Amino acid sequence: MNYEVAILVAEAVVVYLLVLGAHSLRHRVGLAHFYALIGGLTAVMSWVTDAGVLVQVAGVRFMVGSTVFYTSLLLAVFVVYVFDGVRATRIAISTVIGVSIMVPIIAVVLNLQMTLAGMPPLGYVPSPSLRINAASVLATFMDLLFLAIAWEFMNNRLQWIPLGIRAFFTLLGVMWLDVFLFTTGAFGGSPGYVAIMQGTAFSRFIVSCFAAPILWAYLAWQNRVWDTEMTKRPVLAILRQFAQMKQELTRAQLEIERRKKAERALRQSEERLRFLATTDELTSLPNRRRFWELANSEFQRAQRYGSPLTLGLMDIDIFKDVNDTKGHAAGDQVLAGLARVCLGQLRSVDSLARVGGEEFVLLLPETGLDTAMMVAERLRAAVEASVFETDKGPVNITVSIGLAPLRQDTSGAEELYTQADQALYQAKGVGRNRVCPAQGPQAAA
Ligand code: GH3
Ligand code: MG
Ligand code: MG
Repeated sequence: MNYEVAILVAEAVVVYLLVLGAHSLRHRVGLAHFYALIGGLTAVMSWVTDAGVLVQVAGVRFMVGSTVFYTSLLLAVFVVYVFDGVRATRIAISTVIGVSIMVPIIAVVLNLQMTLAGMPPLGYVPSPSLRINAASVLATFMDLLFLAIAWEFMNNRLQWIPLGIRAFFTLLGVMWLDVFLFTTGAFGGSPGYVAIMQGTAFSRFIVSCFAAPILWAYLAWQNRVWDTEMTKRPVLAILRQFAQMKQELTRAQLEIERRKKAERALRQSEERLRFLATTDELTSLPNRRRFWELANSEFQRAQRYGSPLTLGLMDIDIFKDVNDTKGHAAGDQVLAGLARVCLGQLRSVDSLARVGGEEFVLLLPETGLDTAMMVAERLRAAVEASVFETDKGPVNITVSIGLAPLRQDTSGAEELYTQADQALYQAKGVGRNRVCPAQGPQAAA
């Protein structure tokens, strides 16, 4: 091998090691220095390309800019893409494209200044060709796009190919694509076009053969040290990120819907449970438990505001007879009918609850004994006047009611209940089908 080629290859290897070495420091110092290196290499590439620096061996032209520096940039973007994800790749690509645009502009401006100053052009700041540079920027952009697509395709479809080989072919593919795009863009139509293309393709191949083991070793090393899941890198990354975000959003929305529904069902079942726990099945009236809740809160309220409150206890007279003659089921129908009749006689603030088999409580807020007596009497009369239809024929019943009004010294709802019970006992004792007030200071007076 000609020593010029040896120097070129050595130069390439050094630049690759520089790139990979800088990249390997990222976990310690971040990627800023790496981007700076990429920018610097891009500037050097532009410069040596515009200066036409080349090595010619056996008719093959090795453009140093594209053979050494451009391939090192591809390598740099490749490792960033593989290890550092989408954001880092975007910065790397922007750096390469940005500097490739900036360097020729600086060269043009510098040379323009020299011309304006009437001085000879700068030998070491080559005047760039617009066409070559435009071709270079466009080709670079396409290369990097292809790099991402090719790498993802290989990862998704050709996983059985060993990692190092996949990486080598991806890079070689990009290099050859670049040869075609760049050479066509820059030199298409000119007489040397085919020769340049052949030369560049061949030189890239030679260089990539040297790059391959270095890259392979680097991938293996980094993979071992950082345990990177290389095959899981998102691609075409922005698109996939969007797709994932959308998916996650949909999933989150579904999850929210599901939770809302579950919450609603829970609330409904809680309400249902509470209803079942506080309601008497037969009459749909509040049950004993609910009655005590109501009675205690009404008692406290009445005491706090000094407002009247009367509690009544109602028991069906000789109900045993109904059960005995018509049967228990008919008795139940009478109980349900009684609840309806009584509710029809009460205000909405009044409560009627079933606290025992055929015993009911009346809770009459804002009602003193006199008014309560009228209400209870109205109730008693309505029951007496009603005919309760049952499967076993019509049934007539009467009820007895004992009333206990709230007094200054009443200790609680329990006391009212006991007094009403005593009053009820009295009502039963003096002949049933009547309303009796509790024996208190008022009645005694
Ligand atoms: P009085 O109250 O007038 O002294 O006579 P009574 O026959 O009604 O006596 P008591 O209040 O002790 O009667 C309770 C009867 O009520 C016993 C039972 O036959 C009937 N009973 C209690 N709970 C139910 C019920 O849920 N359904 C039916 N059908 N009957 C019931
Ligand atoms: Mg009873
Ligand atoms: Mg009874």
